[in-house]
Amino acid sequence: MLLRVHDLVLDPDEDGSSLGERACERLGLPGSALRSYRILRRSVDARRARVRLLYALEVEVEGVRAEGLGEPGGAAVDEGLRLPPHGHEPMGAPPVVVGAGPAGMLAAWLLAREGYRPLLLERGLPVERRSRSLGRFFSRRELDPESNLLFGEGGAGTYSDGKVNTGSRDPRVALVYRILVEHGAPERILYDARPHIGTDRLKRVVKALRSGIETAGGELRFGCRVDSFETDRGRLSALRTSGGRVECRVAIVATGHSGRDTYEALRAAGARLVPRPFQMGLRIEHPQTMLDRCQYGRRAGHPALGAASYRLVARGSRGGPDVYTFCMCPGGVILPTPSEPGGLVTNGMSASTRNTRYGNSALVATVGPEDFGSDSPLAGVAFQRHWERAGFLAGGGTSAPRPSSPRTSWRAAVRVDCPPAPTSWDSGRRTWRPWSPRGSRGPLAAP
Ligand SMILES: Cc1cc2nc3c(=O)[nH]c(=O)nc-3n(C[C@H](O)[C@H](O)[C@H](O)COP(=O)(O)OP(=O)(O)OC[C@H]3O[C@@H](n4cnc5c(N)ncnc54)[C@H](O)[C@@H]3O)c2cc1C
Repeated sequence: MLLRVHDLVLDPDEDGSSLGERACERLGLPGSALRSYRILRRSVDARRARVRLLYALEVEVEGVRAEGLGEPGGAAVDEGLRLPPHGHEPMGAPPVVVGAGPAGMLAAWLLAREGYRPLLLERGLPVERRSRSLGRFFSRRELDPESNLLFGEGGAGTYSDGKVNTGSRDPRVALVYRILVEHGAPERILYDARPHIGTDRLKRVVKALRSGIETAGGELRFGCRVDSFETDRGRLSALRTSGGRVECRVAIVATGHSGRDTYEALRAAGARLVPRPFQMGLRIEHPQTMLDRCQYGRRAGHPALGAASYRLVARGSRGGPDVYTFCMCPGGVILPTPSEPGGLVTNGMSASTRNTRYGNSALVATVGPEDFGSDSPLAGVAFQRHWERAGFLAGGGTSAPRPSSPRTSWRAAVRVDCPPAPTSWDSGRRTWRPWSPRGSRGPLAAP
C-alpha cells in the first residue's frame, strides 16, 4: 500500500537516512512494515529561530489496511495523467513546431514519442555553436540577432537560472519534471520545494532532448527562421522560412517572449492576437552572505541549506500597483539579455552550484494594456522597446555595458541612492569568464 506522510522534520545536520523509519513511527507502524519510500517534497523552513528541513514522503508499507491507520495526511496515491488520444484523420504533412525553447522542445519531444515525426524549426544555432556567439557578445559587445542569450537551441531557457518551480497545479507539470530528469536534470527537482537546475546542467539537458527527439523520428533544423505563414481558405497551408517553404497544416508556434517579428507575421496572416499584462522592472543585487545571514542566522552557510532565497511584496498604496520581487537567483549573476540591437534588458542566472558571492532578483510591477498607450495588440511590444532603448542610452549606448568604465557603468542605467558596491557583473571576469570566447569553462561555455 502507498501512503503519503507530511511534515517530517529534520535538522540540517541530519543526513536523511532515518526518513523511512520516521515515517513508520508517524504511522504507528514497526520499521519492518516499510518496503520503500520516495521523497515527494523537501523544503527549508526558516520562519522560526530554529531552521528546519521539512519532508513529505510517499511510503510503501506492507501488511496494513489504510482505514486502520488513522493518520492525517496519509492518502492513497493517484498520479492521474492521461495524454489525449490520437486522431484518425491523416495530417497530410508532419506537424511543425516553431521555436526550440523549453515549450517547443518539450512539445516536439512528446509529438516524436507519440509517433508524429515532428519538424522543429529554430532560428538560432545548436547549443554548442551558440556559446561562440555569446563569446563574441561578451568580448566585443556584438549582438547577433539570431544567436544570443535568448535565441538558439533551448531558447531563453538554456541560459536561464533554471528554477523550474511553478504555481500551476496542472498534472502535466510532473510529466515535464520527469522528462527533464530523464534527460539529465538532477533527480531532486522532483521533490525540492524550489527546484533548480542551473545553466551549466541545462545545456546538457537541451542536447539530450535534441537527441531524444531525433531518435524518436523527429527532425530539427537550426538557422531556420519562420518569416511568414501562408493560409488557404483560412487554414494554415505552409510556412515561409529563411531556409525555404515548408508545407504545413498544423504548427505549434512556441517562439517565446522575444520573437517579436513572429508576432507581426502572425498578425499579417490574420491570427487574432490579444495583448496581455506582463511584469517590468529592474534587477537588484545583494551580497549572498547577507541574504544567508538574514534567512538562516547562525546556520548560514550550512551545505544542506544552500544559498538563501527570498520573496518580498510591497502593496501599492492609494491604488498604485504592487511592487514585488520575482525570479530570485541566489548565488548567481546579472546578465544583459537583449534580443535586438539598441536595447538593454537584464536578467539573472546561476550555475547548479549557486556559488557566486551575489544574489539577485527582479523588482517588478505588473503593466497592462492600460499603460501601453494604444489599442494595438502589439502595443506592449512597443512599450517594451521604448524602455529597453531608454536603458540602452542611459547605460552609455551599449547592450552590455563595460563594467569598469564609470561613464558606461551598468549602474548608470538606474539611479541608486547607496554608495557604489561591487556587483556580479564587475567581478564576473574572475568568477564566470562568460565573455572569453576560448578556454572559458564557466557556465556559458559550450557543453
Ligand atoms: C537569463 C534568464 C534567466 C531566466 N531564469 C528563469 C528561471 O529561473 N525560471 C523560469 O521559469 N524562467 C526563467 N527565465 C524565463 C524562461 O527562460 C522563459 O520563460 C522560457 O525560456 C520561455 O520558454 P519558451 O519556449 O516559451 O520561449 P523561449 O525560451 O523564448 O524560446 C523561443 C525560441 O523560439 C525561437 N524563435 C523565435 N522566433 C522564431 C522564428 N520566427 N522562427 C524560428 N524560431 C524562432 C527562439 O530562437 C527561441 O529559441 C529566464 C530567462 C532568462 C533570459
